[in-house]
Amino acid sequence: MRIIHKDNGVYSFSRSHKPVDYVEVGEPIMLETEDAVGGQIQNEDTPLEKIDWKRVNRATGPIYIKGAEKGDTLVVDILDIEIASRGVILVVPGAGALAGKSFKPKAKLVNIRDGIARFNDVAFIVKPMIGTIGVAPEGEDIPTSTPHKHGGNLDCAEVCKGAKLYLPVAVDGALFAAGDLHAVQADGELCVSSIEVEGKLLLKFNLIKNRRPEWPIVESDEHYSILVADEDLNKAVEIVSEYAVQAVSRAKKWSFEESYMFGSLGVSIAINQIVDPKKGVRAKIPKNIVSIYDLLTG
Ligand code: CA
Repeated sequence: MRIIHKDNGVYSFSRSHKPVDYVEVGEPIMLETEDAVGGQIQNEDTPLEKIDWKRVNRATGPIYIKGAEKGDTLVVDILDIEIASRGVILVVPGAGALAGKSFKPKAKLVNIRDGIARFNDVAFIVKPMIGTIGVAPEGEDIPTSTPHKHGGNLDCAEVCKGAKLYLPVAVDGALFAAGDLHAVQADGELCVSSIEVEGKLLLKFNLIKNRRPEWPIVESDEHYSILVADEDLNKAVEIVSEYAVQAVSRAKKWSFEESYMFGSLGVSIAINQIVDPKKGVRAKIPKNIVSIYDLLTG
């Protein structure tokens, strides 16, 4: 199987990056990824002033998917996520949901064994997820720290093993990259980081030709979730709500009014994260209500 080493990485999603490899649709591929702080914290005494913030959030890739063209949907099958036995979580003054509070910088190593991550005396069952995952955007380069229509730093806990992610292709080959794995993350990612961990991704790609979503869509067993990000959380909620209501209307051939009503009953709005340059939300719609094609609007 093709393996992409973690040294082959980028700090932005860009149409001008040179691909590190070329893959066929349906071909399994393994990506090794470094942790979001570039492996720079190996012990809890590492002074955070020593961290090179230009070396954070590297995504492995980009990978050229043969046959992908502008206007298509890249379907990413997340077959497996393997994580290292130790991760790191950090708080940084000026960052996170409580950025305005006064507190000290601090890093904490978290051991992960037999599927359990231990934080002080609390045990979490790990649910590894991909924080940063995306394709080259339509226009200007976008730093890997930022989520938007191309994917990027989505930090959505649903982007995990067994899920499928649908991304809008803007350039030939799509130029896919991913990294920034988390062992565990709650909605919100309050303190700005999660259990940041290096690891390996087993992925497979597929394409839906000539149709694409306006924003990334993640498919789990029972739901499709539309992922929207904006500097303004209220604006993100408005955009994702409209997307969801329109998809329901299209699928069921209901009026706007009835689809809007259904939104209160069957569409769940949740927060992915509120700590990245754009805040991310999702709208979850049951798969017995909409099909993926109702969500591909472009
Ligand atoms: Ca992240």
